[in-house]
Amino acid sequence: MKKEFVVIGLGRFGGSIVKELIDLEADVMAIDISPERVDEYAPIATQAVVADTTDESVLRSLGIRNFEHVIVAIGENIQSSILTTLMLKEIGVPKITVKAQNDYHAKVLQKIGADNVVHPERDMGIRIANNMVSNNILDYLELSDEYSIAEIKASDKLVGFTLIDLDIRAKYGVNIVAIKRGKQILVSPQAIEKIQLEDILIVIGSDKDIHSFEKKAL
Ligand code: ADP
Repeated sequence: MKKEFVVIGLGRFGGSIVKELIDLEADVMAIDISPERVDEYAPIATQAVVADTTDESVLRSLGIRNFEHVIVAIGENIQSSILTTLMLKEIGVPKITVKAQNDYHAKVLQKIGADNVVHPERDMGIRIANNMVSNNILDYLELSDEYSIAEIKASDKLVGFTLIDLDIRAKYGVNIVAIKRGKQILVSPQAIEKIQLEDILIVIGSDKDIHSFEKKAL
């Protein structure tokens, strides 16, 4: 069965979610208060509707309750984002994901019961900054304030050694959870696996340990 989603707010963020979901073969109802934005997405989305989502009766008439997951991608207008989330909660939508503009906005969203609060600009800023300070860190994904997953290019210094030889967990406190080798991905690599040239290590650990591993081991 096809998955069904609603995307509210068709700015850059909401718009790219709509396009990606459609590419992933999901059904998407795209909603915006602006008719121009809705016109732009009408040929792409399964359904595109002009509506003010802070109005509970509008949400009910659109049958939003029957969708399994709604994403609120209203950016600038924090008040509308909060009110919309509240209405969605009130009508009993099973899963609500909301884009937060800042930490205060995120706190309120969590309080009123948003299931998932995302910070795309902040997260992308963190990923780009990490990539800028180190040529070896290819990607960086925050798991919490303290822990992250990083994709790190294996340097020549590591090539030819096994994970046992390198003893990375004991020395640096990070775990190699996977190795990307060309198109192949070795999940939970064996301790006897030898690092090869061009390997990309996917490591998990505290930010401090990941950075010390990246500085000292590579
Ligand atoms: P981004 O930063 O992702 O580009 P924007 O703030 O530009 O986000 O876009 C948010 C979208 O949300 C706009 O297209 C705006 O018309 C829409 N929007 C704002 N308030 C409402 C509302 N009450 N109901 C529906 N859509 C809304």
